[in-house]
Amino acid sequence: MKGYRIHAWGGEPVWEDIPDPRPGPEEVLVEVEACGIGLTVLNCIAGNLSDDPGLLPRVPGHELVGRVVEVGEGVGAGWQGLRVAAYFYLYCGDCGFCRKGWQQRCANLAGWVGVHRDGGYAPYAALPSRNVIPLPDGLDPVAATVVPDAVATPVHVTARAGIGPDDRVAVIGAGGGVGIHMVQVALSRGAKVAGLDVTESKLEAVAEFGATPVRSNDFATLQPGIFEGDRPTVVVDFVGTTESTTWAKDSVETGGRVVALTTFPGRSVPVSPRELVFREFSVLGSRYATTDQLAEAADLVLSGAVRPVIGRVVEPGEVPSVHEELRAGRLLGRGAIDWRAS
Ligand SMILES: [Zn+2]
Repeated sequence: MKGYRIHAWGGEPVWEDIPDPRPGPEEVLVEVEACGIGLTVLNCIAGNLSDDPGLLPRVPGHELVGRVVEVGEGVGAGWQGLRVAAYFYLYCGDCGFCRKGWQQRCANLAGWVGVHRDGGYAPYAALPSRNVIPLPDGLDPVAATVVPDAVATPVHVTARAGIGPDDRVAVIGAGGGVGIHMVQVALSRGAKVAGLDVTESKLEAVAEFGATPVRSNDFATLQPGIFEGDRPTVVVDFVGTTESTTWAKDSVETGGRVVALTTFPGRSVPVSPRELVFREFSVLGSRYATTDQLAEAADLVLSGAVRPVIGRVVEPGEVPSVHEELRAGRLLGRGAIDWRAS
Protein backbone atom coordinates (compact mmCIF):
# COMPACT_ATOMS: atom_id res chain seq x y z
CA MET A 1 0.00 0.00 0.00
CA LYS A 2 0.97 3.66 -0.38
CA GLY A 3 0.81 5.89 2.67
CA TYR A 4 2.70 8.34 4.86
CA ARG A 5 5.45 7.37 7.27
CA ILE A 6 7.73 9.32 9.58
CA HIS A 7 11.42 8.41 9.36
CA ALA A 8 12.63 10.95 11.94
CA TRP A 9 10.63 12.44 14.83
CA GLY A 10 10.16 16.09 13.97
CA GLY A 11 10.50 15.40 10.24
CA GLU A 12 7.76 15.56 7.62
CA PRO A 13 5.87 12.33 6.81
CA VAL A 14 7.08 10.69 3.59
CA TRP A 15 4.64 9.34 0.98
CA GLU A 16 5.92 5.87 0.10
CA ASP A 17 5.30 2.14 -0.34
CA ILE A 18 4.54 0.44 2.96
CA PRO A 19 4.18 -3.32 3.53
CA ASP A 20 0.52 -4.34 3.87
CA PRO A 21 -0.29 -4.79 7.58
CA ARG A 22 -1.80 -8.07 8.83
CA PRO A 23 -3.76 -8.49 12.06
CA GLY A 24 -1.96 -10.41 14.81
CA PRO A 25 -3.71 -12.32 17.62
CA GLU A 26 -6.48 -10.23 19.28
CA GLU A 27 -6.15 -7.65 16.50
CA VAL A 28 -8.30 -6.41 13.64
CA LEU A 29 -7.34 -5.03 10.24
CA VAL A 30 -9.12 -1.76 9.47
CA GLU A 31 -9.56 -0.41 5.94
CA VAL A 32 -9.22 3.28 6.72
CA GLU A 33 -11.95 5.44 5.18
CA ALA A 34 -10.89 8.73 6.75
CA CYS A 35 -8.41 10.09 9.26
CA GLY A 36 -8.51 13.34 11.19
CA ILE A 37 -5.69 15.88 11.10
CA GLY A 38 -5.31 18.08 14.16
CA LEU A 39 -2.66 19.60 16.39
CA THR A 40 -2.29 16.39 18.40
CA VAL A 41 -1.12 14.46 15.35
CA LEU A 42 1.42 17.24 14.73
CA ASN A 43 2.54 16.83 18.36
CA CYS A 44 2.96 13.09 17.77
CA ILE A 45 4.93 13.66 14.56
CA ALA A 46 7.12 16.21 16.36
CA GLY A 47 8.11 13.49 18.83
CA ASN A 48 6.45 15.19 21.82
CA LEU A 49 4.77 11.97 23.01
CA SER A 50 7.79 9.77 22.32
CA ASP A 51 10.95 10.39 20.33
CA ASP A 52 12.28 6.85 20.56
CA PRO A 53 14.06 6.14 17.24
CA GLY A 54 13.26 2.44 17.77
CA LEU A 55 9.62 3.22 16.92
CA LEU A 56 10.47 4.38 13.40
CA PRO A 57 9.39 4.29 10.66
CA ARG A 58 5.85 5.01 11.82
CA VAL A 59 2.51 5.74 10.15
CA PRO A 60 0.99 8.66 12.13
CA GLY A 61 -2.71 9.46 12.58
CA HIS A 62 -4.80 8.42 15.58
CA GLU A 63 -8.22 9.74 14.52
CA LEU A 64 -8.94 6.99 12.06
CA VAL A 65 -12.33 5.69 11.00
CA GLY A 66 -12.87 2.67 8.81
CA ARG A 67 -14.24 -0.82 8.34
CA VAL A 68 -12.91 -4.03 9.85
CA VAL A 69 -11.92 -6.17 6.87
CA GLU A 70 -10.02 -8.97 8.62
CA VAL A 71 -9.84 -10.35 12.15
CA GLY A 72 -6.87 -11.97 13.87
CA GLU A 73 -6.80 -15.09 16.00
CA GLY A 74 -9.09 -14.85 19.02
CA VAL A 75 -11.30 -12.09 17.60
CA GLY A 76 -14.94 -12.97 16.94
CA ALA A 77 -16.22 -13.00 13.35
CA GLY A 78 -18.86 -10.47 14.46
CA TRP A 79 -16.26 -7.72 14.06
CA GLN A 80 -16.05 -8.31 10.33
CA GLY A 81 -17.48 -5.37 8.35
CA LEU A 82 -18.10 -3.12 11.38
CA ARG A 83 -17.36 0.58 11.04
CA VAL A 84 -15.07 1.59 13.86
CA ALA A 85 -13.06 4.49 15.23
CA ALA A 86 -9.66 4.09 16.86
CA TYR A 87 -9.18 4.77 20.58
CA PHE A 88 -5.95 6.80 20.92
CA TYR A 89 -4.44 5.20 24.05
CA LEU A 90 -2.99 1.67 23.85
CA TYR A 91 -4.43 0.59 27.21
CA CYS A 92 -4.00 -2.81 28.85
CA GLY A 93 -7.64 -3.54 29.70
CA ASP A 94 -6.60 -5.33 32.88
CA CYS A 95 -5.22 -2.86 35.47
CA GLY A 96 -7.29 -1.30 38.25
CA PHE A 97 -8.01 1.82 36.21
CA CYS A 98 -8.95 -0.06 33.04
CA ARG A 99 -11.28 -2.35 35.03
CA LYS A 100 -13.09 0.76 36.28
CA GLY A 101 -13.45 1.97 32.69
CA TRP A 102 -10.80 4.69 33.03
CA GLN A 103 -8.63 3.51 30.16
CA GLN A 104 -6.97 6.93 29.79
CA ARG A 105 -5.40 6.39 33.24
CA CYS A 106 -4.08 2.92 32.37
CA ALA A 107 -1.19 1.93 34.65
CA ASN A 108 0.40 -0.17 31.90
CA LEU A 109 -0.06 2.20 28.99
CA ALA A 110 1.75 0.82 25.92
CA GLY A 111 1.72 4.17 24.14
CA TRP A 112 -0.47 5.74 21.51
CA VAL A 113 -1.92 4.92 18.10
CA GLY A 114 0.20 6.74 15.53
CA VAL A 115 3.23 6.75 17.84
CA HIS A 116 3.71 3.17 19.11
CA ARG A 117 1.44 1.55 16.50
CA ASP A 118 0.79 2.53 12.90
CA GLY A 119 -2.23 4.79 12.44
CA GLY A 120 -4.50 6.26 9.79
CA TYR A 121 -2.10 8.09 7.44
CA ALA A 122 -2.19 4.89 5.36
CA PRO A 123 -5.14 3.02 3.83
CA TYR A 124 -4.94 0.02 6.21
CA ALA A 125 -4.12 -0.25 9.91
CA ALA A 126 -3.86 -3.29 12.18
CA LEU A 127 -4.86 -2.51 15.78
CA PRO A 128 -5.71 -4.40 18.97
CA SER A 129 -9.46 -5.12 18.86
CA ARG A 130 -9.93 -3.34 22.20
CA ASN A 131 -8.52 -0.20 20.56
CA VAL A 132 -11.32 0.12 18.04
CA ILE A 133 -14.80 1.23 19.06
CA PRO A 134 -17.81 0.35 16.89
CA LEU A 135 -19.61 3.42 15.52
CA PRO A 136 -23.38 3.69 15.09
CA ASP A 137 -24.81 3.16 11.62
CA GLY A 138 -25.51 6.29 9.64
CA LEU A 139 -22.42 8.22 10.67
CA ASP A 140 -20.45 9.53 7.69
CA PRO A 141 -16.81 8.39 8.01
CA VAL A 142 -15.29 11.83 7.34
CA ALA A 143 -17.67 13.47 9.85
CA ALA A 144 -16.85 10.66 12.30
CA THR A 145 -13.14 11.61 12.36
CA VAL A 146 -14.05 14.25 14.97
CA VAL A 147 -15.42 11.55 17.30
CA PRO A 148 -12.30 9.83 18.71
CA ASP A 149 -10.55 13.01 19.93
CA ALA A 150 -12.19 16.35 19.04
CA VAL A 151 -15.57 15.42 20.54
CA ALA A 152 -14.60 12.63 22.98
CA THR A 153 -12.12 14.93 24.76
CA PRO A 154 -14.80 17.59 25.47
CA VAL A 155 -17.21 14.86 26.65
CA HIS A 156 -14.57 13.92 29.24
CA VAL A 157 -14.12 17.59 30.21
CA THR A 158 -17.85 17.94 30.90
CA ALA A 159 -17.64 14.88 33.17
CA ARG A 160 -14.49 16.06 34.97
CA ALA A 161 -15.92 19.54 35.62
CA GLY A 162 -19.51 18.39 36.10
CA ILE A 163 -20.78 20.87 33.49
CA GLY A 164 -24.56 21.37 33.58
CA PRO A 165 -27.34 23.87 32.86
CA ASP A 166 -26.34 26.20 35.72
CA ASP A 167 -22.84 26.70 34.36
CA ARG A 168 -21.24 29.56 32.48
CA VAL A 169 -18.37 27.95 30.57
CA ALA A 170 -15.47 29.94 29.12
CA VAL A 171 -13.51 28.04 26.46
CA ILE A 172 -10.03 29.44 25.81
CA GLY A 173 -8.96 28.55 22.27
CA ALA A 174 -12.57 28.08 21.21
CA GLY A 175 -11.90 28.16 17.47
CA GLY A 176 -9.38 25.33 17.55
CA GLY A 177 -9.99 21.75 16.52
CA VAL A 178 -11.05 20.56 19.96
CA GLY A 179 -12.22 23.98 21.22
CA ILE A 180 -14.99 24.43 18.65
CA HIS A 181 -16.39 21.02 19.60
CA MET A 182 -15.97 21.81 23.33
CA VAL A 183 -18.21 24.84 22.76
CA GLN A 184 -20.89 22.60 21.26
CA VAL A 185 -20.65 19.82 23.86
CA ALA A 186 -20.96 22.38 26.69
CA LEU A 187 -23.99 23.93 24.94
CA SER A 188 -25.51 20.46 24.59
CA ARG A 189 -25.34 20.17 28.40
CA GLY A 190 -27.46 23.31 28.69
CA ALA A 191 -24.63 25.59 29.84
CA LYS A 192 -24.08 29.18 28.71
CA VAL A 193 -20.82 29.30 26.77
CA ALA A 194 -18.32 32.01 25.85
CA GLY A 195 -15.63 31.21 23.29
CA LEU A 196 -12.30 33.02 23.59
CA ASP A 197 -10.09 33.29 20.53
CA VAL A 198 -7.98 35.76 18.61
CA THR A 199 -9.03 35.60 14.94
CA GLU A 200 -12.20 37.03 13.44
CA SER A 201 -13.23 33.92 11.47
CA LYS A 202 -12.92 31.71 14.55
CA LEU A 203 -14.92 34.17 16.67
CA GLU A 204 -17.62 34.20 13.96
CA ALA A 205 -17.81 30.40 14.12
CA VAL A 206 -18.14 30.57 17.92
CA ALA A 207 -21.08 32.96 17.52
CA GLU A 208 -22.72 30.77 14.86
CA PHE A 209 -22.92 27.89 17.33
CA GLY A 210 -24.71 30.08 19.86
CA ALA A 211 -21.82 30.96 22.16
CA THR A 212 -20.62 34.47 23.03
CA PRO A 213 -17.45 35.35 21.12
CA VAL A 214 -14.76 37.02 23.24
CA ARG A 215 -11.58 38.45 21.80
CA SER A 216 -8.62 37.29 23.89
CA ASN A 217 -5.59 38.93 22.27
CA ASP A 218 -4.59 40.42 25.62
CA PHE A 219 -5.40 38.48 28.78
CA ALA A 220 -3.85 41.22 30.94
CA THR A 221 -6.72 43.59 30.06
CA LEU A 222 -9.53 41.03 29.61
CA GLN A 223 -12.14 41.54 32.34
CA PRO A 224 -13.46 38.40 34.12
CA GLY A 225 -17.15 39.34 33.75
CA ILE A 226 -17.49 38.03 30.20
CA PHE A 227 -21.06 36.78 30.79
CA GLU A 228 -22.82 40.17 30.89
CA GLY A 229 -20.82 41.03 33.96
CA ASP A 230 -20.84 37.56 35.51
CA ARG A 231 -17.72 35.44 35.82
CA PRO A 232 -17.43 31.97 34.29
CA THR A 233 -18.15 29.05 36.64
CA VAL A 234 -15.91 26.84 34.48
CA VAL A 235 -12.86 27.83 32.42
CA VAL A 236 -11.55 25.25 29.94
CA ASP A 237 -8.05 26.13 28.76
CA PHE A 238 -6.87 24.71 25.43
CA VAL A 239 -4.14 27.33 25.04
CA GLY A 240 -2.11 26.72 28.19
CA THR A 241 0.10 29.80 28.17
CA THR A 242 1.09 31.44 31.46
CA GLU A 243 -1.26 34.32 30.51
CA SER A 244 -4.28 32.13 29.69
CA THR A 245 -3.93 29.93 32.77
CA THR A 246 -3.42 32.94 35.04
CA TRP A 247 -6.55 34.57 33.59
CA ALA A 248 -8.45 31.30 34.08
CA LYS A 249 -7.71 30.95 37.79
CA ASP A 250 -8.09 34.68 38.51
CA SER A 251 -11.38 34.98 36.60
CA VAL A 252 -13.26 31.84 37.55
CA GLU A 253 -16.26 32.36 39.85
CA THR A 254 -16.00 31.44 43.54
CA GLY A 255 -16.57 27.69 43.74
CA GLY A 256 -15.74 27.30 40.05
CA ARG A 257 -13.52 24.89 38.15
CA VAL A 258 -10.48 25.50 35.96
CA VAL A 259 -9.75 22.66 33.53
CA ALA A 260 -6.25 22.22 32.09
CA LEU A 261 -5.77 20.26 28.85
CA THR A 262 -2.34 21.22 27.56
CA THR A 263 0.91 19.38 28.23
CA PHE A 264 3.58 21.87 27.16
CA PRO A 265 6.68 21.22 29.25
CA GLY A 266 8.11 23.90 31.50
CA ARG A 267 4.97 25.98 32.01
CA SER A 268 3.68 26.73 35.48
CA VAL A 269 1.41 29.20 37.22
CA PRO A 270 1.49 29.71 41.00
CA VAL A 271 -1.74 29.03 42.89
CA SER A 272 -1.80 30.06 46.56
CA PRO A 273 -3.59 28.03 49.24
CA ARG A 274 -5.02 31.37 50.39
CA GLU A 275 -6.86 32.04 47.10
CA LEU A 276 -7.96 28.39 46.88
CA VAL A 277 -9.50 28.66 50.34
CA PHE A 278 -11.10 32.08 50.01
CA ARG A 279 -12.55 31.41 46.54
CA GLU A 280 -12.97 27.63 46.82
CA PHE A 281 -12.18 27.03 43.17
CA SER A 282 -10.79 23.75 41.85
CA VAL A 283 -8.04 23.17 39.33
CA LEU A 284 -8.58 19.98 37.32
CA GLY A 285 -6.63 18.15 34.69
CA SER A 286 -8.54 16.42 31.91
CA ARG A 287 -6.82 13.65 30.00
CA TYR A 288 -8.36 12.39 26.74
CA ALA A 289 -11.53 10.29 27.29
CA THR A 290 -12.75 6.83 28.23
CA THR A 291 -13.94 4.30 25.63
CA ASP A 292 -17.53 4.85 26.87
CA GLN A 293 -17.12 8.58 26.33
CA LEU A 294 -15.92 7.91 22.78
CA ALA A 295 -19.17 6.05 22.14
CA GLU A 296 -21.09 8.94 23.73
CA ALA A 297 -19.25 11.36 21.43
CA ALA A 298 -20.38 9.31 18.43
CA ASP A 299 -24.00 9.59 19.59
CA LEU A 300 -23.70 13.37 19.99
CA VAL A 301 -22.52 13.67 16.38
CA LEU A 302 -25.14 11.21 15.09
CA SER A 303 -27.98 13.08 16.84
CA GLY A 304 -26.82 16.43 15.46
CA ALA A 305 -26.19 17.86 18.94
CA VAL A 306 -22.59 18.36 17.83
CA ARG A 307 -21.83 19.38 14.25
CA PRO A 308 -18.37 18.34 13.04
CA VAL A 309 -16.24 21.34 12.11
CA ILE A 310 -13.77 20.18 9.50
CA GLY A 311 -12.11 23.12 7.78
CA ARG A 312 -10.57 21.02 4.98
CA VAL A 313 -11.15 17.51 3.66
CA VAL A 314 -8.33 16.44 1.35
CA GLU A 315 -7.12 13.56 -0.75
CA PRO A 316 -4.04 11.87 0.68
CA GLY A 317 -1.57 13.83 -1.49
CA GLU A 318 -2.61 17.16 0.04
CA VAL A 319 -1.81 16.28 3.65
CA PRO A 320 1.33 18.50 3.91
CA SER A 321 -0.64 21.64 3.01
CA VAL A 322 -3.14 20.91 5.81
CA HIS A 323 -0.24 20.54 8.25
CA GLU A 324 0.97 23.99 7.16
CA GLU A 325 -2.45 25.56 7.72
CA LEU A 326 -2.68 23.98 11.17
CA ARG A 327 0.77 25.20 12.19
CA ALA A 328 -0.13 28.70 11.03
CA GLY A 329 -3.39 28.57 13.05
CA ARG A 330 -5.41 29.25 9.88
CA LEU A 331 -7.57 26.13 9.90
CA LEU A 332 -11.03 26.34 11.43
CA GLY A 333 -11.70 23.17 13.40
CA ARG A 334 -9.79 20.22 11.99
CA GLY A 335 -8.65 18.70 8.75
CA ALA A 336 -9.34 15.20 7.44
CA ILE A 337 -7.91 12.80 4.88
CA ASP A 338 -10.55 11.06 2.79
CA TRP A 339 -9.03 7.70 1.81
CA ARG A 340 -12.09 6.67 -0.17
CA ALA A 341 -11.03 9.10 -2.89
CA SER A 342 -7.74 7.26 -3.46
ZN1 LIG B 1 -4.72 -0.64 32.10
